[in-house]
Amino acid sequence: MTILVTGGAGYIGSHTCVELLSAGFEVIILDNFVNSHPEVISRIEKITGKGLAVINGDVRDQALVEECLKKYSCTAVMHFAGLKAVGDSVKNPLAYYDNNFVGTHRLLLAMQNCGVEKIVFSSSATVYGEPQYLPITEDHPLTATNPYGRSKLFIEEMLRDFHHANPSWKIALLRYFNPAGAHESGLIGEDPMGLPNNLMPYIAQVATGRREYLSIWGNDYATHDGTGVRDYIHVVDLALGHLKALQQLNSSKSLCLNLGAGIGYSVLDIVHTFEKTSGKKIPYQIDKRRFGDIAVCYADPTLARESLDWVARRDLVAICKDHWRWQKQNPEGYA
Ligand code: NAD
Ligand code: UDP
Repeated sequence: MTILVTGGAGYIGSHTCVELLSAGFEVIILDNFVNSHPEVISRIEKITGKGLAVINGDVRDQALVEECLKKYSCTAVMHFAGLKAVGDSVKNPLAYYDNNFVGTHRLLLAMQNCGVEKIVFSSSATVYGEPQYLPITEDHPLTATNPYGRSKLFIEEMLRDFHHANPSWKIALLRYFNPAGAHESGLIGEDPMGLPNNLMPYIAQVATGRREYLSIWGNDYATHDGTGVRDYIHVVDLALGHLKALQQLNSSKSLCLNLGAGIGYSVLDIVHTFEKTSGKKIPYQIDKRRFGDIAVCYADPTLARESLDWVARRDLVAICKDHWRWQKQNPEGYA
């Protein structure tokens, strides 16, 4: 079976390509490299010992997507391509609606024209907005607090409407919590362009000396140590969740699932675990809260366990160890 992986050169997509290839799928990556580096392709090939086709192009290019689907006889799409920086989305909302929403719309049209009726979509815990209860289950009310989150929510709504009108389609909406870590080979990992927006890559860059210190955004939240709490999930577990979701779509029905570990860790928990596993001191200073941040967010992953027989197996120590191995071996990322 051949899978078209949009955004397959990115952080989560590249790890998922490794698992797809290792499980015997053929993989075609469609990526415009707006937030990734071509070097990742040879790393995926090195890890798996398998080759893959790469098309340098945009998911909004419907004709190109149709050409790829036909040429390689793809049977399903994993759709990672998108922009993901919350702050940037506030400044450039149209870019986010265009890239994320219009991109997915064109992709669906292309798939429809080619008779490809299976898609796994990268959604996010951001569609829950400020949690009304914890842990968050999939039936938690949906809302969005910024254009990035709204683009994900709009795509989910479009996919629900589309599925209602086309019940033969198999659609998986996977709501990720906080992906972190890297492949245990240290060959692939997260390589943010410019200043990292997320906690783990920022800490890793402090550990290599590329950044002087970590700013912790608020220590006055109602949490065990005052810093924000999130559900960190190892990127390899996340990739394996995609594989299981795809296999499930092949055999039965559509899915909407949380992919999280179900455990909340604070910023200081992460700093201390990273220090222990890397042997590096992480200097930090407490700054004011980041606008729009929530205090606590973690998943109830029961439904994923029941429907996919999937659980996050790699703990926080493995996440920090693997993230550090990647950063230490590639202090400047892929460049
Ligand atoms: P990433 O930026 O590393 O990967 C996205 C990839 O898509 C990049 O390689 C980029 O070049 C490519 N891309 C972007 N726009 C494109 C377009 N129009 N056409 C073709 N390729 C395009 O991001 P990631 O962390 O791997 O995230 C993958 C998906 O998961 C995204 O949709 C993101 O919104 C979603 N997600 C990520 C997180 C997270 O914290 N990393 C959390 C929840 C959801
Ligand atoms: N955070 C921080 N400093 C940073 C980056 C993040 O203190 O440089 C905190 C942030 O306030 C939140 C947690 O780390 O409590 C996770 O933030 P991230 O942006 O990685 O994920 P998200 O907030 O989108 O869940």
